[in-house]
Amino acid sequence: MSIRIDQSLCTGCGLCRDVCPGGLIRQDERKKAFIPEPRDCWGCAACLKECGYGAIRYFLGSDMGGQGAYLVVKDEQGCLHWQINKNGLHTHIRVNKKEANIY
Ligand code: SF4
Ligand code: SF4
Repeated sequence: MSIRIDQSLCTGCGLCRDVCPGGLIRQDERKKAFIPEPRDCWGCAACLKECGYGAIRYFLGSDMGGQGAYLVVKDEQGCLHWQINKNGLHTHIRVNKKEANIY
């Protein structure tokens, strides 16, 4: 698994930097996020969940997709939209944040 940040989508909110338990994410002079040592990332996905702008791509290892498959999250109208992309196919999971912790 690995993380890549698309700075063209990054708004500079800094949430990913704040939640990364390893302090791996930094912000440049424009507040755009970047990860200087991506190999240090252990794939906890905390940053991915915080970025509602789809700026972080979480590439899946071969045990979970491989072949360039990745996960991206967007926050729209109180819902998190998780999208798995593999070979041009998209699988979409919608989670209403208000109901996410109701069992
Ligand atoms: S959470 Fe997303 S938009 Fe905010 S700084 Fe990180 S990559 Fe940029
Ligand atoms: S996946 Fe976890 S360890 Fe990796 S950069 Fe994001 S928050 Fe940090």
